[in-house]
Amino acid sequence: MLKHTPLANSLSELDRRHLVHPVSSYRGHEARGVRVLTSAKGATVTDAEGRELIDGFAGLWCVNAGYGQESVIEAATRQMRELPYATGYFDLGAEAPIRLAAALADRAPGDLNHVYFTLGGSDAVDSTIRFVRYYWHAQGQPQRDQFISVASGYHGSSSMGAGLTALPIFHEGFGLPHEGQHKIASHDLYRNPLADDPQAVIDASVAELRAKIETIGAERVAAFYVEPIQGSGGVLVPPPGWIKAMREVCTEHGILFVADEVITAFGRTGPLFACEDEGIVPDLMTVAKGLTSGYVPMGAVLMSDAVYDVIADGAGAKAVGHGFTYSAHPVSAAVGLEVLALYEGGLLENGRAMGARLQAGLQGLMDHPLVGDVRGRGMLAAVELVTDKVAKTPVPASLNAATRLFDRAWDQGLVVRAFPQGVFGYAPPLCCTAAEIDAIVDRTRKVLDLTLEDP
Ligand code: PMP
Repeated sequence: MLKHTPLANSLSELDRRHLVHPVSSYRGHEARGVRVLTSAKGATVTDAEGRELIDGFAGLWCVNAGYGQESVIEAATRQMRELPYATGYFDLGAEAPIRLAAALADRAPGDLNHVYFTLGGSDAVDSTIRFVRYYWHAQGQPQRDQFISVASGYHGSSSMGAGLTALPIFHEGFGLPHEGQHKIASHDLYRNPLADDPQAVIDASVAELRAKIETIGAERVAAFYVEPIQGSGGVLVPPPGWIKAMREVCTEHGILFVADEVITAFGRTGPLFACEDEGIVPDLMTVAKGLTSGYVPMGAVLMSDAVYDVIADGAGAKAVGHGFTYSAHPVSAAVGLEVLALYEGGLLENGRAMGARLQAGLQGLMDHPLVGDVRGRGMLAAVELVTDKVAKTPVPASLNAATRLFDRAWDQGLVVRAFPQGVFGYAPPLCCTAAEIDAIVDRTRKVLDLTLEDP
């Protein structure tokens, strides 16, 4: 029987009544409601009023291959028809996830040869935490239960992952972080007095990580988590060599190094994996988003031979008690294989060319009175607004102000992420044309001009 609910006049009203959007500015922005998209093709999305916009954020940094790719749609349809589901639990499986695991292992840095599939990034991060704990238990070191991550980092929304995340709204009201979840300062360069000397920034972070490890006790630290470029913290790019230096400290102390590539993998920064640019091999890596390019959900944990061997050996005759009903989902895997073929069939190359164009175009906005910083790599970028360029004064941080910026961009036919600290985030699909990249930059300038006139 249906509950009697009064008829809503619009989708927006139905949404307001029934669909939960935890991160929203509705409460301070009652008049607007949700914007509804109805279709998309390439890098263009169309809203319910028929307006076309360039998606400068690839959904939520995920539609790397672009919308409406027929070969992906066909691969998913074929798989649904032939075999929509086979569990990856126990000793069962299907062809597509086996082939995708092998394809990822072939391409991943170093000996990251073993793949555990998840449904997205948060459960990939959460799975690494379970694997890391299991790894240390299996080696008779259960006291290694302390975790270190980086301020401004984002590692998903599971309880443990949100604890590693270092963005205040993910902690406040949730009793986070958990005990044993430590942070070191971010490598953010923009307001860093050492920024002119990248080696000094690296040295300071190394010293802080060493001090943190010493305070906790090296024999108690299980793992260090880091994004090659921090995404949700506002696209913060570490100086070259920073990641490698952190990796070396971890290796020295036998601490597992986990690279969270949920945003950065699959061409977002240029190569298939951003760790390739850093010249490092992590012990574990998380990916999601571009893995299936948003067509269906999927994430993955990649682990090294050494980690896998310990987990497998440590289990002995026992099963490792971890798994999801939809792990290694055949339809997601079929999409993953096809998306990978598209990346390697030209999208990575186009993404690299368009990434250079995007970075150069956005750098051109540095002459604008409201722009304090432009940063990024490849098809991942940010423009930071300030009220005073010389003093680098941040705009007052608020979700409502961000919504206003987002709306202004929308009105110019551009979808971008507007972070509460007055930062525009960019992560366009890798299929963008030069004209689309130029339009992203031009429309941003228009938004900045309007904001200068009417803050
Ligand atoms: N890690 C990183 C670095 C992320 O950016 C995200 C999502 N933005 C996640 C983990 C969580 O992924 P998901 O939203 O797919 O659960």
